[in-house]
Amino acid sequence: MQMTRSRLAFKLLGYRYGFDLDSFLRLVNDDQYWSKTQITEYQTKRMIEIIRHSYENVPFYRQYFDSEGLTPEQFTSLTDLNKLPIIRKQDVHGKHHEFLAKNHAGFQPLDRATGGTTGLAFKFYNDTQSWGLNWATKIRTFSWGGYKYGEDKVAVMAGGSLLPEGKFEAKSRFWRFLNNYLVLPITIMTDEIMESYRKKIIRQRIRFLRGYPSAIYTFAQYLSSSGKSLPMQSVFTTAEMLLEHQRLLLEKVFCCKVFDTYGCGDGMGGANECEVHNGLHINIETSFLQIVRPDGIEAKPGETGEIVLTALHEYAMPLIRYAPGDMAELGEGICSCGRTLPLIKKIVGRTTDLIELANGRKLNGLSIPFETWTDTIDKFQIVQTQIDQLVVNIIPKTTTTEHDLQTIKARMQFFAGEGIDVIVNRVESIPLPKSGKMRYVVSKIDK
Ligand SMILES: [Zn+2]
Repeated sequence: MQMTRSRLAFKLLGYRYGFDLDSFLRLVNDDQYWSKTQITEYQTKRMIEIIRHSYENVPFYRQYFDSEGLTPEQFTSLTDLNKLPIIRKQDVHGKHHEFLAKNHAGFQPLDRATGGTTGLAFKFYNDTQSWGLNWATKIRTFSWGGYKYGEDKVAVMAGGSLLPEGKFEAKSRFWRFLNNYLVLPITIMTDEIMESYRKKIIRQRIRFLRGYPSAIYTFAQYLSSSGKSLPMQSVFTTAEMLLEHQRLLLEKVFCCKVFDTYGCGDGMGGANECEVHNGLHINIETSFLQIVRPDGIEAKPGETGEIVLTALHEYAMPLIRYAPGDMAELGEGICSCGRTLPLIKKIVGRTTDLIELANGRKLNGLSIPFETWTDTIDKFQIVQTQIDQLVVNIIPKTTTTEHDLQTIKARMQFFAGEGIDVIVNRVESIPLPKSGKMRYVVSKIDK
């Protein structure tokens, strides 16, 4: 690989923070073909080190182990992790210092925060080693789509989580420059603005697009309605659930495959589609990822549960059995691409977006047939306002008829079932949270 400005800058960052991107890249390129035994050995070794460190340095874990009569020596296999409780954002909120290692400064942690969608800001840290390794896994994913890191340019349509502002802005500008990003802001997307994006992409001969599905979909709708296509080599979606109708339109307008990716900086979980597009390969390097059913048992292939992460290289603020609030279905078998990284069949949505209705029905983002109505309207959002009430907020197109809205209402009523009041509202806008991530399904009921 040639020494581009991105690779040079990473080398310098590595010198400064004590990691070597090249060795991380070698690891992630090799381990995607490891045997199950090799993967288990790698993860077990890191888990044992994290447990020992957490017992010695992290107040919460010292106290938990002592009160439960546990010792670090009892943790010899990955299943031993199930002796520890699942930790959620609200468990850490207000008790942040109890999860911070006494010796955290020595790991040169990067100050991070997430939240927004749950309304609960969550402050955490990434060790620089862990961050560097995670970036190597991202470079690997881009390479699955044919993107040559540091050489190819990528257009990015996203908000806060990919393009931080405020105190991170100066760093963020540097980051965009290093990564050959062409940033296409998504806060305001009028036809004129999207036309200027199309022209910029063509002028700069960009063949890769990355961003939130909802934003790229809006761009694709514009291109499609104005009869234009914009051929790309690959499109990478991230940070929101990718809906099937979005994928279909994106593939049509951009004349290429969509690579969906899942990433969670708190807990360092990640899973990404390869060129076979048969589920998402789990990153085994940065985190041990479990999918846990509501009854606490680990999901079997085909079953859905909550994603639970044990970060394998986070020492400043270890997150062990941490559930960020995402739900997924476990995949099975080995992918025909030959990579042995285990598979998630699909990301199902966020636990906060699960709608539980008074009649016992449960709806998540994937169980609602959005694709049957998205052609007739511009944008929509489904809000559960009461245990027996769903409000569908719709931004109509100029061509949307009353009959279209009644059809949507009837379909929602069918899926919601008996005794549920479905209200369809015409609205002018659907506000995005600060992160810029679109949520199609929102429950306002306390769970
Ligand atoms: Zn594969």
